[in-house]
Amino acid sequence: MTTYIDHFIGGATVEGSSTRTGPVFNPATGVVQKEVRLGSVADVDTAVQAAAAAFPAWSEASLSKRQAVLFSFRELLNSRKGDLAEILTSEHGKVLSDAGGEIARGLEVVDFATSIPQLMKGEYSENVSTGVDVYTLKQPLGVVGIISPFNFPAMVPMWFFPLALAAGNTVVLKPSEKDPSAAIWMAELLTEAGLPDGVFNVVHGDKEAVDAILDHPVIQSVSFVGSTPIARYIYETAARNGKRVQALGGAKNHMLVLPDADLDLAADAAVNAGFGSAGERCMAISVLLAVDTIADDLVARIATRMSSLTTGDGRRGCDMGPLITGVHRDKVASYVDVASTDGATVVVDGRNPEVNGEDGGFWFGPTLLDHVPTSSTVYSDEIFGPVLSVVRVSSYAEGLQIINDSPYGNGTAIFTNDGGAARRFQREVSVGMVGINVPIPVPVAYHSFGGWKHSMFGDAKAYGPRGVEFFTREKAVTSRWLDPSHGGLNLGFPEHD
Ligand code: NAD
Repeated sequence: MTTYIDHFIGGATVEGSSTRTGPVFNPATGVVQKEVRLGSVADVDTAVQAAAAAFPAWSEASLSKRQAVLFSFRELLNSRKGDLAEILTSEHGKVLSDAGGEIARGLEVVDFATSIPQLMKGEYSENVSTGVDVYTLKQPLGVVGIISPFNFPAMVPMWFFPLALAAGNTVVLKPSEKDPSAAIWMAELLTEAGLPDGVFNVVHGDKEAVDAILDHPVIQSVSFVGSTPIARYIYETAARNGKRVQALGGAKNHMLVLPDADLDLAADAAVNAGFGSAGERCMAISVLLAVDTIADDLVARIATRMSSLTTGDGRRGCDMGPLITGVHRDKVASYVDVASTDGATVVVDGRNPEVNGEDGGFWFGPTLLDHVPTSSTVYSDEIFGPVLSVVRVSSYAEGLQIINDSPYGNGTAIFTNDGGAARRFQREVSVGMVGINVPIPVPVAYHSFGGWKHSMFGDAKAYGPRGVEFFTREKAVTSRWLDPSHGGLNLGFPEHD
């Protein structure tokens, strides 16, 4: 009998009106375990109406009431994170320890959002003119839309909804149709934490549901994370429809290793950042820029470390799980096929990996390519798999130029023991998040996350101070309380005396 994953609207799971469904695989077995309902325009509208109906009361709830719900959600999530990790592993494939890491990073944003009374404070200027005060209020937007990708089914929604809710908005989330159960699990937990019905809604679906969100006149803002072509489409469409929009796109992250770097540290970092979560991270390192003089040595150290990595079912204590679908696995393999034609050397080949898992799983082993030319699609395309490309450079300047010529600008890292070189790099590189001897520089929750160039469309980064700004709008109030000394007509601007 088929198991269906329903929407969550108005505090309850609902089937909705659409008859379309999509398969949800267990990537470690290749078996379809559930079918997710693919929402219609009417389903999105039902969710938006529920969110709109819940908005007046939720936005009027005191800061401490909203804070209390978040504290409660935090405690519940912390005590049951093992259950959520299992859901993530069964639908995404990432290994259990990595699923735990994803939840921990999401929880950091929940922690940050619990300080909402502090974060919502406005500004106050007394006596801008005699007896006149000016102050700012931060108010919620209303119903906000969130659209998330497959690779972080728990963390990416948590980049947005804790702050959106804390600020008094109500939410419609459209998670990835490839691993949709985590969103429902979190919605039910929010209800258990005391969130009133209708404040947080989940509509599953594909382009039809996304377009319905982009076109819905009641939705005030759209927060999107996914691939660059879709991010651009979301940004252009939502902005044309008058919505506030933050759209985070794809990436191709470079790690530059200078000759004075600690090569063991750099090799460990390259392996961790290249192959963690099977390379399906927007902050994964996919290009290693190695200065010629140390390149052979570094490649050898990386290859040695790779020989000990295990690939298999995420529940069996392996280092790396499967890819998300068979189609995606075949696409990743096609890049390794063209690598040799394009002049690269295949140092470690992951196309037929030894695995600790079922035959039908979407397996692809860690792969190392050397001497990759920057003219190759292996270099330029976001592969989104466990493929690390080494590009050799003659100097810091050539490495920097390559990074700055990339259309992407999500994350980057430099490995060096020269503080002056690192400082110069952080100033000169055209990338939104920079690591210095840190390979995956995802900012903590009280700084904001976002890339430059084609890795982000819109101005507001996710979470941190920019997240608070995104989910609130400022109102400036100029007030004068009459006292007996006022009086008289004056048609000019106030003269501030
Ligand atoms: P995706 O762009 O295929 O899908 C993202 C969301 O958009 C999903 O909810 C999906 O249903 C929807 N969508 C897909 N096609 C659509 C279309 N034609 N019209 C409207 N909506 C559509 O991305 P994905 O494969 O789920 O995720 C991987 C991508 O996300 C990678 O490119 C990765 O770099 C990127 N990503 C970026 C960040 C970041 O912070 N910049 C973080 C995580 C993932």
